[in-house]
This record gives sequence, structure tokens and C-alpha cells, in this order.
Amino acid sequence: MNLDKETIKKDFKRKLISMFSEDINEAPLLHKYLVFGSLIKEYCAENWMKTNKEYRKNYEKQVYYFSMEFLIGRLLKSNLINLGIEKECEEALKELGIDMNELEEAEKDAGLGNGGLGRLAACFLDSMASLEIPGHGCGIRYKYGLFEQKIVDGYQVEIPDNWLVKGNVWETRKDNKAVIVKFYGKIISYMNNGRLNFKHEGYNAVKAIPYDTPIIGYKNKTVNTLRLWSAETVEKDKDLDFNFFKSGNYSKAVEHKSAVESISQVLYPDDSHIEGKILRLKQQYFFVSAGIQSIIRSYKKLNKPIRELYKYIAIHINDTHPSLAVPELMRILMDEHELNWDEAWEITTKTISYTNHTIMAEALEKWPEDIFKKLLPRIYMIIEEINRRFIGEILLKYKNDPNKVKDMSILSNGKVRMANLAIVGSYSVNGVARLHTEILKKRELNDFYQMFPHKFNNKTNGITHRRWLIQANPELARCISKTIGDEWIKTPEKLIKLLKYSKDKSVQEEIYNIKRDNKIKFANEIKKQYKINVDPASIFDVQVKRLHAYKRQVLNLFNIMHMYNRLKENPNIDIIPRTFVFGAKASPNYYLAKEVIKLINTVANKINNDKDINDKIKIVFLENYRVSLAEKIIPCADISEQISTASKEASGTGNMKFMMNGAVTVATLDGANVEIRNKVGDNNIIIFGMTAEEVMNYEMNGGYFSRDIYNSDSRIHNVIDKMMNGYFGVPSSEFRNIYNNLIERNDEYFVLKDFDSYVQAQEKVDNLYRQKSKWQEMCITNIAHSGVFSSDNTISRYANEIWNIKNKK
Ligand SMILES: *Cc1c(COP(=O)(O)O)cnc(C)c1O
Repeated sequence: MNLDKETIKKDFKRKLISMFSEDINEAPLLHKYLVFGSLIKEYCAENWMKTNKEYRKNYEKQVYYFSMEFLIGRLLKSNLINLGIEKECEEALKELGIDMNELEEAEKDAGLGNGGLGRLAACFLDSMASLEIPGHGCGIRYKYGLFEQKIVDGYQVEIPDNWLVKGNVWETRKDNKAVIVKFYGKIISYMNNGRLNFKHEGYNAVKAIPYDTPIIGYKNKTVNTLRLWSAETVEKDKDLDFNFFKSGNYSKAVEHKSAVESISQVLYPDDSHIEGKILRLKQQYFFVSAGIQSIIRSYKKLNKPIRELYKYIAIHINDTHPSLAVPELMRILMDEHELNWDEAWEITTKTISYTNHTIMAEALEKWPEDIFKKLLPRIYMIIEEINRRFIGEILLKYKNDPNKVKDMSILSNGKVRMANLAIVGSYSVNGVARLHTEILKKRELNDFYQMFPHKFNNKTNGITHRRWLIQANPELARCISKTIGDEWIKTPEKLIKLLKYSKDKSVQEEIYNIKRDNKIKFANEIKKQYKINVDPASIFDVQVKRLHAYKRQVLNLFNIMHMYNRLKENPNIDIIPRTFVFGAKASPNYYLAKEVIKLINTVANKINNDKDINDKIKIVFLENYRVSLAEKIIPCADISEQISTASKEASGTGNMKFMMNGAVTVATLDGANVEIRNKVGDNNIIIFGMTAEEVMNYEMNGGYFSRDIYNSDSRIHNVIDKMMNGYFGVPSSEFRNIYNNLIERNDEYFVLKDFDSYVQAQEKVDNLYRQKSKWQEMCITNIAHSGVFSSDNTISRYANEIWNIKNKK
């Protein structure tokens, strides 16, 4: 967009007066941010309106990406970059005496997600808008996002994330587009003109209000929409409130209001683990029903036959959380548009596609049938009928195999199995990395794969290179453009041109210096916030991601404890100084994970303050890991730790962000690490540990005994004993869960089994880092190959191969 800095200055001053009646000298930082953000939203408003009009006028197929989580982070900088007015704005603000960085820091992260799954949804929105794909997000406007983490005396303390208190400049509330979502009540069936009809009576009505956020494409005119739904009481109930109030029953009115509003009150803080709370089921139906009702309403304005819905609409569900889209679309087609079952089923299963994110049992959603039936009586009836017909199909195909019904049935043992529902009701089922999809097909979902082989496909995850390279590491982006031109910005695969320069001494030097400058800046922040002296010349070895047993932060820590033991024995051993950086939130009720946080901080406290080891090891636990912090730490990383037990991490996306910023990955052959290795080759990644095959073999056939390793490997024995004997100044009771999991419960995630191989991998890091030119060659090779992991690439494959949308680019 074309804007000069004088216009921006004038607009800013005008808006500051109209919003706050203040001039620049008296306005607090927050007001300046709110004004500037509103101005940027104003700048995109016309294109936002026009985008919608164009879509309608051209009858373009619309994609709706349903996700319970959108982990967006901040929007100011990315909006400026995508609008192409970053430079003008920075200059305008500077002339007004305002520091752009300070304004950016005034924005709260939109933390409406837990980790990778929610961040993927956010990257996809950015890519769809940038590729001019008519793709919109549909989710929940949580009043409280993922909790804020404080570390107090080494423990995680959770603080509510009241991110909306100071206002959200990006959203627009659309009262006129509200819809009603119905819970509880009973279903009355009756005949009308020979057709069986269903009527929902005695239900609790909840009003769903949409809040729309513009999703701005990169230097194009497309502005898509993220629509997040908020729960409120309906008008009728407000009168009811008023009646309660009149009759003096004020507290009852307030109770009712807060019960309804609780639906969109808070994000469940579980990652790769599901809490089976009824409120979560309410959340799921709430946003799915609101989203589908609003899709159908706008489809009807096109005056196209309802039978052709699938030609104009694609609904994609991110994991099983929105799988009620299947029965909800059936309900609307049958009960509100009078289609018969077969017609409705054909449309539904040509409209909905599904992404599977995990194969771990504790993350698979199952709802108790009795709760389900009460809360969603009509939806339950429809699921029963879907299941009845599906079982018929199974029996037809596998006449003599009762186990097939048992394994595939949607309703089983008094539970509704959401993954089964999603697979049966959609036309596409995709995994999120090649290895993950293969495991789904061969093992976890093999029955379904045999029944519906055509549904299964792979779409390896991706990340938006705009946020994770251009925005997070502007100096590196500039250096890349200077070296190979700037085509890579529109076509990220062109980063491969950098390969030619991987041995070029001056490019190597330049990229080394950029990372060093990033490290110096971050080391200063660490000094300020944590009072830890970190040497920017040390290797920055970073593991930032949710805290989970399968991600094995403990393996990383055990190697550190082992290095420390070696240094205590001989302070003169020749190792390159390392700064180990951790960042991780633990689900509040995940006790093992919380013990790991305490252990990391406990070990850090002792090692960081031990004068004997000459500052050769520092450990920093970064508080409150989130998108905006990821943007700061990833450009500083020399080493990217991607060390999950092989087969457990479906894809990972952190791995891609690090690679794109020139970190070298220490990795197991898990998730997308496998594809990163295939791209960069074995010389440019450090692989260790068991393969997925080996892990699954032990899981099926046994033969692993962690206690044997504990007894035979003195390094491990030593590390675990020091954890448990008070050596670090904290009693063993604090780490009992960790100990029990590793020794008493036979180490489900093979930490001890992979320890030796990991220690060797870390020694390899030390060796390679000494060879400066070789190391830089590795960094550059990684950046050069990172283009395929842009979510632009991922999204064009979704568009072409799943949604059947012709990609304009
Ligand atoms: C990318 C990202 C993740 C996912 O990281 P993984 O290493 O793939 O688990 C989680 N949280 C935040 C804030 C992220 O930016």
C-alpha cells in the first residue's frame, strides 16, 4: 500500500486526539499503541471490505479453518510488514519522538493456543491471505488465553492471562451476525407430509457473538477474516436477568450470566493431553455450531442450491476438537433444509476434511455418552445414526471379523470417539509429517486406512517465513536478499540459491556476525531480567517448547548434569562454553512436568553460581515462553534441540523456525526432523537415538529395562543419584515423579536408552563448533533448505490436493 510518512504522522496525531484527547507529549505508551494499532486497522479496512465483496461476486470457493486454538502472538509488526509500510511507519513515529520497538512491546500476545497446533493455525491464516486463497479462521474468543508463567523459587506459578483488559485494537464485534447455539433440552419427532421431522424443545440458548480480526496478506490486496466467537446470554435471558433483579434475586441472575459466559472464558491449558471436562465439550459445540450456522447463512445469500454447498465451501478441522462439525452440518442440512439422510451425508462428506495431530493415547478425545447425550441430544442422535450405518458398512466389508466393528465404531464402551467420527465424516484425513502419516496408515489408523485408503494423505507442517525470518530476524533477511536477491520473499523455495554461498567466506562471516549481534542483545536482556552473566561467544543451545515427558527436556538436563560432573572432576577439560536455554510451560495439573521445571531451575542455580567451572556452563530458564519470546530467542540459537522419543512428535514446527534462522539441529529421527535431515543431509544435522521403528518394536515386544542401564552406566547412576541425594540443595521428594517414571515405571520415553547416543551427539557439537567455517557452512545450508518448510508451501498443497482450490501462484 502507498502511504508517505507525512500522512501517517498527520493521521496519528488526529487519531490520538479523537480517541484520547491527548497530544503526543502527554499520552502514555499504551494510548500511543492503541492509537497506532487502530490506525493500521483503518488502513486495511477498505481492502477488507473489498476482499469479501470480491469473493461473493466471483463465487470463489471459501475455506473455513476450524480450530479450537489460534496462537497468534502479536500483530502490529506483522501487519506493517504485510501492508508494506513498515519503513514509512518507523520513520513517521521516529519524527514524532516515538520508538517503534517500544510500541511493539506494548502489545499483549494473543495467546489463544497451547503450542504447535495453535501456532500452525496462525501460520496457515498468514499463508492463505498471502497466497490470495479465500481462507478464514473460525475459533473461540477466549477471555483468558494460555496462563502467564512466573518462576518463583524455581517453581512454575500460573497467572491468568487477562489479555483483553486494555482493549484489542484488531478485532471488530459484529452484533448483527450473532447466532444462537442450543444445549440440553429434548428432541420431539413428528411426521409432516410423510417426512420424519425433529424439533428441539426446552433447550438452553446461548448467544454466540462473532469478533472479526483482519488477516492481511503480504503486499497484496487480500484481507481475510479470523472469526472468533464469544458466548453471551440471549436477549430473552437478559429480560430474565432483569426479572430476577426486580424480584431481588440478583445473585441468581449473575450466576446465570456467568454460567453462560464461562463457555468462552478460558483456554484449556493442555497440550497433547485432553481433560475430559464437560465445559470443554460445550466449547467445542459452541464454536462449531456458531461457525457452521454463519457459513450456511452467508452461503444462502449466494442463491446457490444447498446441494452444491461442497463446490463453494470447504470446512477443515484442525485435530478432532471441531469434529462435531460432522453431525452439526448434518443437522442443519436435514432439520433446517429438509434434505434426506443420504443427500445430507453426501454433502457433508464432500465438505469436511480433517488433520490428525497425534498418535498418543492420552491426547485422543473421547466423551462419555451419558454426558454427551444430555448436553447435545440431537447431535447425539445423529452420531448414533452415522455409527449405525457405518457399522453396516464394516460388516458388509468384513463379514467374519467382529473385531473390526469393535476397533472402528464411533460409539464404544460408553464413549464417543471423536477421531473415529472425524475420519468417517470427512473426505480427507491428513497427518502432519511423512513419518507421522506412515505411522497412522501402518499402525494407529490402519483399520481406517484399509477401509478408506483414498482419504489418507500427508501434509507436512510449515511456518510462515514472514514472521519467523523477515520479522524475527530482519538483519538475516536483509543479508539473504543482498546475497541472492529478494525473490525468496514471495517464493521461499528460492532460498536454495544460498547454497552456492555456503562456503563463501564473506557470507559466512556476515551471517556469523548477525547471529553474534542477536546473541549480544539477548545476553543483555538475560542479564537484566535474570541477573545471569551469559557469554555471547558461548554456544547458545536452545530447547523451547511445551514441557512434556515425550519431548524429553530431562534428557537435555541429564547431559548438562553429566558435563558438570566432568568439569567438577577436572575443571580444565577443553570444552567450548555453552549457554543452555530452556523455555517451557507445563500444564498446571501435570505434576511430572512441573517437577522438571523445578529440577532445571535447581540445577541452574547451582551450576550458574559455581566458581569452579570457569563459566563453562550457564543455564537459563526463560519465564513465560510464548510467541513474542520465541521471536527473540530463535534468532540467537546455535543449536536447536529436537530430541523427542522417535514416533512421538507428530511433526514439530519449532524445528523449522530454528533451521530457517541458521541453527544446527540436534535431533532424533522423529516428525519433520526426518524431512529436515533428508533435505540438508547427514553432514548438516546431528542425529542420535533410536529410530521410530526401534521404539515401536520395544513398545510391542518389550525387552527394555531402564533399571539395567541405571545400574550399568555410571554416568547415569551418578546423575540420578545427585538428583535424589540433595546434592543440588533440594530434597529428593521434589523429584520423586521423575525418578519413578525413569526407574520404577521403566522409562516410557527411553531417556536412559538414548542417553549415551545423546552425549556423543553433544560431543560432536563441541567438535564441529570449533571449525568455524565448517559450522557456518552448516548454518547456511540449513537456511538454504528451509524454504520448503514455509507454510506457503504447505498451504498450497492443502489448497490443491485437499480443498480443490486452484492456486493462483
Ligand atoms: C512454534 C511454537 C511452538 C511449537 O514448538 P515445537 O518445538 O514444535 O513443539 C510452541 N510454542 C510456541 C510459542 C511456538 O512459537
